Amino acid sequence: MTARVLVVDDIPANVKLLEARLSAEYFDVVTATSGRDALTICERAECDLVLLDVMMPDMDGFEVCRRLKSNPATHHIPVIMVTALDQPSDKVRGLEAGADDFLTKPISELALIARVRSLARLKMVTDELRMRVLTSHEIGIESPEREAVADTGRGGRVLIVDDRPASYERIAATLSKEHDVEVEADPNQALFHAADGNYDLLIVSLGLENFDALRLCSQIRSLDRTRNLPILAITEPDNNSRMLRGLEIGVNDFLIRPIDKNELLARTRSQVRKRRYTERLRDNVQMSIEMAITDALTGLFNRRYMESHLGTLIEQAAARGKPLVALVLDIDYFKAINDSHGHDAGDDVLRDFALRIKRSIRGIDLACRYGGEEFVIIMPETDMAVAAMVAERLRRRIAAEPFAIAQGARQIPVTISIGIAGLRGKDDTAATLLKRADQALYRAKRDGRNRVVPDAA
Ligand code: GH3
Ligand code: MG
Ligand code: MG
Repeated sequence: MTARVLVVDDIPANVKLLEARLSAEYFDVVTATSGRDALTICERAECDLVLLDVMMPDMDGFEVCRRLKSNPATHHIPVIMVTALDQPSDKVRGLEAGADDFLTKPISELALIARVRSLARLKMVTDELRMRVLTSHEIGIESPEREAVADTGRGGRVLIVDDRPASYERIAATLSKEHDVEVEADPNQALFHAADGNYDLLIVSLGLENFDALRLCSQIRSLDRTRNLPILAITEPDNNSRMLRGLEIGVNDFLIRPIDKNELLARTRSQVRKRRYTERLRDNVQMSIEMAITDALTGLFNRRYMESHLGTLIEQAAARGKPLVALVLDIDYFKAINDSHGHDAGDDVLRDFALRIKRSIRGIDLACRYGGEEFVIIMPETDMAVAAMVAERLRRRIAAEPFAIAQGARQIPVTISIGIAGLRGKDDTAATLLKRADQALYRAKRDGRNRVVPDAA
């Protein structure tokens, strides 16, 4: 993993020091000595993570961070604030500006590398998702970036795992003002509890009695259902080695006792916001995948998917010596339906037709809208005789039951013609198979429509 880290500090000696330490750990380093330069580098997407000094002339670190986090183009870049001050109020200021983490000068080498590694790892997950999403314009939804920038981070679902009432009651009371909070006081139940609810954040006390809280964190990371659940761990002061172990395991953030209420609120909001952003990206990726392979009007597979998949199905059939049949279906005189009832009525017929196709085929059959009012069904492990029977049954059902148009106000008769072709020998390809089915369809049309015609062997 070679993440590219941007080091921002107005004092060149500080920049040099951090640059040397990060380079020694094989990170790529870019540097800037002012907030403005830092913003430019981030906007050009030339870094994966920012180490940002708080005290700088002109524009201080808080302002740089605020600008990065309110810009849809840069809000996802993790920011670690480097501060000489160890005041809770400064931390809260930084968190409110959107900082992801803090390091206090003088910077401990271990803490620096652990934090940079952990945030760079998360950034890689986000980048992977971002790469695979279609733009919001193509997909017709609000962009995840814009929503993330507008998200307050409130109203999250939070699960607290802590076995000391004095501790969890205070945390719950603070967070309940902004979130939906649940407590699990039995660590043995925590994993199940976390997996069962759709939580945005897990807060775990690292000081559980008779229970290794870091083991719980690691189990949360390895279970499918909780893998992406952010973890905020609460630890005693001066327990650096536990914190570093936690970062390695995948704990997202830490709070050190005694807990500052505002810091608790700010860190929780920040985790909830990030969680929602990655979930939106994931949904968007899922939707993009579905959109890429389905036809929007009918919900059947689209032509591109069928054509790419048919090759595989043919290879499998040939390798196993099994039959395979292609049906090409075309609605008769469809142009006349559009002409006399309107294009919307035509669309109604196409949707209903697709539904009837779905109801008459098996799970392993592949149905697609090939174009316009032409459909293709691929039936693996099926011979011509059986396919002809299925096709004939479908044809009869279409002709027997009129189609509702105009929200059910009217019913119109529809008929279809079907051409069928079966896989022949080793040299048959998707193209030749479909061509024979299409020729059979042509004969069905020529011979009067509303009929099934098998490819003449
Ligand atoms: P045939 O019996 O020979 O198949 O005649 P046909 O009228 O069905 O065939 P033709 O290919 O002449 O016309 C197909 C029509 O389908 C023309 C086109 O406007 C219409 N069409 C294509 N896609 C859509 C669509 O998505 N919605 C609607 N409503 N009509 C469509
Ligand atoms: Mg037609
Ligand atoms: Mg046609």
